[in-house]
Parts: sequence; structure tokens; C-alpha cells
Amino acid sequence: MEDVYIALGANLGDRRAAIEEALVRIGELPETTVVAVSGLYETKACFVEDQPDFLNACAHLRTGLAAGPLLQAMLDIESSMGRIRTEDKGPRVIDLDLLFYGQAVIDADGLTVPHPDLHNRSFVLHPLAEIAGEVIHPVLGRAVKDLG
Ligand code: ADP
Ligand code: MG
Repeated sequence: MEDVYIALGANLGDRRAAIEEALVRIGELPETTVVAVSGLYETKACFVEDQPDFLNACAHLRTGLAAGPLLQAMLDIESSMGRIRTEDKGPRVIDLDLLFYGQAVIDADGLTVPHPDLHNRSFVLHPLAEIAGEVIHPVLGRAVKDLG
């Protein structure tokens, strides 16, 4: 079993309900439990600023799934919840990002772990520090609470 950290974000419709539903569905994946969830934080959209505010959170999972199948399952949950990819960084019903997969460093087609932008995004670092402050970023070699 690996300790995994993910980020959740939503900025369309009932954002809280979308984050809760995604967490339920993730907890229903094979060999996967949701261990902890951060608070939910309202944040202004970055990058493409002309869109509704986001609700962001992070969660700690424990899973027997490999990283590739886990990310694929997360992307399937996004699609089944009605996420349609329009513009890059645009509005979304739900966004699920894989932040850390244990201490693994993966740079494959369609799967980069640790998530390459996590240390630059306060809307990820803030909730992540709540549940993973002491976790070491395997590339940067620093604890989450000291990033950002
Ligand atoms: P963003 O989350 O940066 O706004 P998207 O959710 O549209 O972007 O994701 C774009 C692609 O990034 C996904 O199709 C996925 O294959 C790829 N990807 C690579 N590594 C990761 C990761 N660690 N977590 C989530 N998506 C990833
Ligand atoms: Mg994403």
C-alpha cells in the first residue's frame, strides 16, 4: 500500500457536492481508502482569471493501485462527473490531480509525479500542508510545510 496525496478543485455548479462525490468515488476504487481530507478553501482562479472562484482541497489516500491506473481512475471519475475539457486551465466541475505517490518520481507520458506545479500553487500547498506538512517532496527534498 502506498500513501498518496491528491488535490481536488471545482468551480462550476455545487462545488462542495462535487468534491464530496469525487471523494466517495475514490474511496470506492479497489484497494483504496481515503485516510484524511483537508479543509475546503475558496480561491480566486489563477491563469485564466475570468471564471468563477474555485473550491480546493487535498486528500490523503492509501492504495494498492499503481500510479498509472490510479490516475486513469481519477480521470475517469472526472469524465463521469461531467467534466468537459474546453480551454486549458478553464472552468471545471471537478479537477483531480495526483500530487505524491509515496516517494515515487515518475516522468511518463501523461503522468508526472510529484505533480510538477504543486510547489508553485498556494491553492494546493495550503490545504496539503494541513494533512501532509511533514511529507518530504521527493524531488525538492523539503517538507511540504516548508515549500512555497
Ligand atoms: P490541470 O490540472 O493542470 O489544470 P488537467 O486536469 O486538464 O490540467 O490535466 C491535463 C493532463 O495532465 C491530464 O490529462 C493528465 O494525463 C496529465 N497529468 C500528468 N501528470 C498528472 C498528475 N500528476 N495529476 C493529474 N494529471 C496529470
Ligand atoms: Mg488536473
